[in-house]
Amino acid sequence: MNKPQSNAAAAEEFLPKDVQAQLKEVFRPLPHDIPVYLFSRKGEDEAEIQIGRSLMAALQLVSDKIKFKEYDLSHKQAKKWGVDRSPTLVFAPEKYSIKYLGLPLGEEGRTLIETLILIGLGRSQLNDQAGKVMAGINEPRKVRVFVSPSCPYCPQQAVNAVKAAIEKPGLVAVEIVDTNYNADLAERYQAFSVPQTWANEVLIARGAQSQELFVSSLERMEEQTYFIPDSDAPRVEADLVIIGGGPAGLSAGIYAARSGLKTVIVERANLGGQVALTPIVENYPGVKRIAGKDLVDIMAAHALQYVRIFPREPVMEIKPGQPLELVTSLRRFSARALLLATGASHKRLGVTGESRWAGRGVSYCSTCDGPLFKGKKVALVGGGNSAVTEALHLYHLGVVVTLIHRRDALRAQEHLVQDLFDKKIPVLWNTEVKAIRGREKVTGIEIYNNQTKTTETLPVDGLFVSIGYTPEVELAEKIGLELTGDGYIKHDGMHRTNIPGVYSAGDVEGGYKQIVVAAGAGAAAAMTIFEDLTHPYWKEARPPGRP
Ligand SMILES: Cc1cc2nc3c(=O)[nH]c(=O)nc-3n(C[C@H](O)[C@H](O)[C@H](O)COP(=O)(O)OP(=O)(O)OC[C@H]3O[C@@H](n4cnc5c(N)ncnc54)[C@H](O)[C@@H]3O)c2cc1C
Repeated sequence: MNKPQSNAAAAEEFLPKDVQAQLKEVFRPLPHDIPVYLFSRKGEDEAEIQIGRSLMAALQLVSDKIKFKEYDLSHKQAKKWGVDRSPTLVFAPEKYSIKYLGLPLGEEGRTLIETLILIGLGRSQLNDQAGKVMAGINEPRKVRVFVSPSCPYCPQQAVNAVKAAIEKPGLVAVEIVDTNYNADLAERYQAFSVPQTWANEVLIARGAQSQELFVSSLERMEEQTYFIPDSDAPRVEADLVIIGGGPAGLSAGIYAARSGLKTVIVERANLGGQVALTPIVENYPGVKRIAGKDLVDIMAAHALQYVRIFPREPVMEIKPGQPLELVTSLRRFSARALLLATGASHKRLGVTGESRWAGRGVSYCSTCDGPLFKGKKVALVGGGNSAVTEALHLYHLGVVVTLIHRRDALRAQEHLVQDLFDKKIPVLWNTEVKAIRGREKVTGIEIYNNQTKTTETLPVDGLFVSIGYTPEVELAEKIGLELTGDGYIKHDGMHRTNIPGVYSAGDVEGGYKQIVVAAGAGAAAAMTIFEDLTHPYWKEARPPGRP
């Protein structure tokens, strides 16, 4: 058995001193020890396992409650706890059945920290609504969550599973499967998009879910997309509710709260919107080059200093009026004003096979799913900035990528196009994808050359789609907001919509779809809202030009 390395200098590489100090405070009151065991096979992945070892050593400096031990995979403890893969981390196996197959690095560091905290606490921390659903699960569930270290959404789903295992220790067993180390398992389950969740060998969720939807899917053994909270769900009162935690919503939150408005942000997923999925941002003023996720983490941390944020709570219903009423999957809100900063979501190609192979070779997120295709051949459809950025990202990950564009020139910025050509990434011009073919997973695509009018099959392991975005206007339509001819929310130039007290900001309004533009619109909308709540125009004469 190796002794864990406890070198303070090495530890600082993983956890800067200020983070160590914060974690010390979090771990100090935890009542329980946190045993963690690393199993590995001698001679395999030595360099990475050393990184995992150093990470655990760093965490032991934070709390002496973390009891870390290492075993060879051939050790009898491996058999006892059902470990047969290297590397695997096993957490508190005398109490729970929680394993991490791989090493929780990158985004998965969050899964590791949250798992350690929950075990130290000895409680699942599921919210009331989710706890009630879990109480109804009386049969065993073996849960597998497929994740990758570059996927910002994966920790949410992995931690949902860990919570379920802690809530029902005798019934729920969890394996978080890092696809970087377990490509064969990903292949066997055709888990070519992450996160993806299986229970008792049944696919129960694609993508990250809120706690309530996760446990409902686990209970019913099929994906649930809608959750109605109990009538005793808590109520939150505010001056302003912002729907959407992308740059528009976060910046609006900062401005509104600083004006003195009691403001909350409700976000159906994790904070960050599209930026969290952007590999690299090079055009946000003040920051030369930054990973999208890092940029949005800075924005979110800033917003959190001012506003209460409710992540992973999809807004499902809005009742306009004074006050406005909102229902999420967990609670009810009432507010004097509402800002829709719901952004946009990816467009689908609309070709044969797209739905069938989604998650099994068809992907809309190179940041999340790119690593699963390392060394494999993929096509990426699109011709704008996002498409070229994503093609370059895949190239850097070691994916063999071909860009497919239906025109004879790209619409991306010149320096991106130059980079693409410098890297000699092949481009199929004047080419359209007509169908996606597969057997258990994608095997090829049918492509049509609109100049030569010929069709052929291109063998590929995956297809990434980056052909633009459609505005998220489902809620807006439900409450009768006027839309533009292109389907965006119509506003008066000051972000007021046709319903008094309801405002819009960001990509959902159309125009230039850029982070700085969305953040600016959020700020402007918040200032309008402040003025309107101070002097409600709906109680006064209607200003000219308003829809
Ligand atoms: C791959 C890619 C690369 C990009 N690169 C760049 C770049 O380099 N530079 C640049 O300036 N811009 C870039 N963009 C564009 C930029 O990310 C967007 O313009 C910006 O994120 C828009 O911000 P937003 O807040 O309006 O919307 P979004 O970022 O889309 O955020 C909207 C949020 O609302 C949430 N939401 C929607 N409906 C609900 C609901 N019912 N309940 C609760 N929450 C809800 C969504 O989950 C989402 O988090 C890129 C976009 C992509 C996809």
